[in-house]
Amino acid sequence: MSDLSLDKLLKKAEHKLHDVHEVVREKAYELIQQAYKESIFVMVTEGFRSIEHQHKLYSQGRTTPGSIVTNAKGGYSYHNYGLSFDIALLDKNGEVDWTINRRWTKAGEIGKRIGLEWGGDWTSLKDYPHF
Ligand SMILES: [Zn+2]
Repeated sequence: MSDLSLDKLLKKAEHKLHDVHEVVREKAYELIQQAYKESIFVMVTEGFRSIEHQHKLYSQGRTTPGSIVTNAKGGYSYHNYGLSFDIALLDKNGEVDWTINRRWTKAGEIGKRIGLEWGGDWTSLKDYPHF
């Protein structure tokens, strides 16, 4: 059994979900709980994002260095309205593991089952961490 407790994951998420709409926040907690039962450890990495920050992200890979991470300009992302959140998956030692494998598909399935839209289903720019 992992030393990553469900409580710890929920506590971590609480801080990140501060400015997220309560309905979405509750779904994020549900995702963490349901995934935990399948030994998938979900860490919320971002919730609310300012329009200014969104502008910066949109510039990345277009007018500033890096690769493109979003197709949403400032004001066009659900993050700007507290209606979405991003996750990372942790391995059993609590380290972030970005390997795209069935854990992500499973996390996406759970999210959809509880009524969220999953960025991993997008065709133009797959956004696995996004719900
Ligand atoms: Zn996102």
